[in-house]
Amino acid sequence: MAATYTMPVQVLIDELGRLPGIGPKSAQRIAFHLLKVSTDDVNRLAHALTDAKAKVRFCERCWNIADGELCPICLDGRRDSAVVCVVEEARDVVALERTGEFRGTYHVLLGAMSPLEGIGPEQLKIKELFARIDAEGISEVILCTNPNTEGEVTAMYLARMLKPFGIRVTRIASGLPVGGDLEYADELTLGRALEGRREVS
Ligand SMILES: [Zn+2]
Repeated sequence: MAATYTMPVQVLIDELGRLPGIGPKSAQRIAFHLLKVSTDDVNRLAHALTDAKAKVRFCERCWNIADGELCPICLDGRRDSAVVCVVEEARDVVALERTGEFRGTYHVLLGAMSPLEGIGPEQLKIKELFARIDAEGISEVILCTNPNTEGEVTAMYLARMLKPFGIRVTRIASGLPVGGDLEYADELTLGRALEGRREVS
């Protein structure tokens, strides 16, 4: 039989349960943990959430995390704006930057296509990518979506749609753990995958 909680506790559990990777059990555990800790600790967490939400925004060019109109990478004049690495999330930018191998710029899709979850191209920053190609004189797009089903579907879709632009379209090399996330790959593996990228036909 499902236990019932007072309304504020149930609301807290429900909200926590909406977070990615948090199942009902974890949501319950976190909720009861938060009820036990001091008011100061809870306020600090609440403040960190609202502060980050208020101060952090998305780069108007590449959709990376930014604290102004543009992210630090788009603001860096030494980066090669003709080569764009397409990733799913801003955390993938962090992973690729750690390799120290890439001197181009990025485009963050803010997700991947997933027919199961009803996520199609229009839910992602895909038309924003196409708009950048001519406007910024992009000559190569490197498809760096995750090596799992959603990432592959997204990469194949983008490769097809980018064809008429007549630019070089590459996909990072295999060697990355299949089904895994880019962010969990070590720097060396990720650096090699980037270096060994291949043309998508
Ligand atoms: Zn940017």
